[in-house]
Amino acid sequence: MSALPSHLELVQGVVLPRPVGADPVLDFLNTRSEWAGRGPARSEWLTSYEALVIWSGYVGLLSDASVFRLIEQAAVKPTDAARRLAAAREFRADLYDVLTDSAAAGSFDAVARVIDKAGARRRLLAVPADGDGFRAAWELPEDLGLPLDQLALLAADLLTGPSRDHVRACPGDACGWLFLDPRGRRRWCSMSTCGNRAKVRAHAARTR
Ligand SMILES: [Zn+2]
Repeated sequence: MSALPSHLELVQGVVLPRPVGADPVLDFLNTRSEWAGRGPARSEWLTSYEALVIWSGYVGLLSDASVFRLIEQAAVKPTDAARRLAAAREFRADLYDVLTDSAAAGSFDAVARVIDKAGARRRLLAVPADGDGFRAAWELPEDLGLPLDQLALLAADLLTGPSRDHVRACPGDACGWLFLDPRGRRRWCSMSTCGNRAKVRAHAARTR
């Protein structure tokens, strides 16, 4: 097998893009290539429900044990799993619109519906603190809806929090990947892909 490009990694048998967004929600949006429109991508990394679950574990949203159990559940309920994957991809497209197009009112409503649903499924639990007493933590049911629920709640934090103003889109050819740029110094999603292509092009223009 030929070596993978440096921006990709083989994780549990699935090829996934390495995180570059500095935020798991933005890295979720970066699980497909060419964000020029909502049509099918040339490279789609969420190729199955299992890939979505493995990706969630890869970026630290699910424990190894949860990844294992959700893959088992998906094998028992393949139709439900396929539906959850379609819902996650739909949410990904709507959320991308909301973050990049201030006029995307229809997408905003769709994103809000998914976030509301996830919010209704979480429960506040008391967990023992390190010292004395208890802390509070949100818990979501561990079923096939878990990966999208988690992403929806994190998306709500991103949309309402201070990071929202620091979301930038990569200007690389047909890229459109998003990342956080709090200091306003970052231009490319990755120097090894879009940054490098721009460098090569600039060099070719200079030596022409
Ligand atoms: Zn890029």
